[in-house]
Amino acid sequence: MTTAILSALAEEQQGLIELLHRPRRVERAGRSFWQGELHGQPVVLALSRIGKVAAATTATILIEAFDAQRLVFTGVAGGIAPGVQVGDVVVAQEFVQHDMDASPLFPRYQVPLYGRERFDCDAVLSSALIAATRSGLQQLGLQAAVHQGLVASGDRFVSAAQEARDLHAALNAAGHAPLAVEMEGAAVAQVCHDYGIPFAAMRTISDRADDTAHLDFPKFVREVASRYALAILDAFMYELK
Ligand code: SAH
Repeated sequence: MTTAILSALAEEQQGLIELLHRPRRVERAGRSFWQGELHGQPVVLALSRIGKVAAATTATILIEAFDAQRLVFTGVAGGIAPGVQVGDVVVAQEFVQHDMDASPLFPRYQVPLYGRERFDCDAVLSSALIAATRSGLQQLGLQAAVHQGLVASGDRFVSAAQEARDLHAALNAAGHAPLAVEMEGAAVAQVCHDYGIPFAAMRTISDRADDTAHLDFPKFVREVASRYALAILDAFMYELK
């Protein structure tokens, strides 16, 4: 069973490529896909690229061209719920698109023709990802909080405190209380829903989606996120054996 590992950023993928046994690089649709084995299991690594359309295309290629039978995503995100701090980890239970609005034809946030606002992650794969997150953090000697819940995706880097508050309040008012905001997860979750393929996602909180997000984000990615992703995914593939 081939596991696809999607990373949002090259810094998060590099360590995985180095761990890959019998690596082979395949080009498709202007993207590089790395096939090989991790802990004796077939895997294919890809960069999601940024934003919902790019991430959906990458996920579709992983399923259609590389026969991925489960997808796991690692990346960084902005914390928007109170108490979700830089350095914490969020494992997604569900995703919502915060920029989906076909009202008044469909309720705000509903994805037209699906009759739903949210797309689920796979419970079993997500439990494995939580276990791997805890053991990965332990190996790194980190005490980071691990949250589980709803993540909001949209084609915007949220980098103003007022915008983050408004976004959080509007989603909350509609009954969707998100922990974090990012730009890809909901798209990948929708593709996996269409194909009936299990999906799990973890995001390390790189910023608070506020006025310093554009400074916090690159610093965090350089210094911390890549180590998190590698330790967690190494533990994840080991535990899936
Ligand atoms: N400058 C970066 C672009 C990053 S865009 C580059 O050169 O690659 C931000 C990425 O981190 C997206 O993949 C998104 O999913 C996530 N992210 C982190 N913080 C975010 C925030 N506050 N709002 C939206 N997305 C965020």
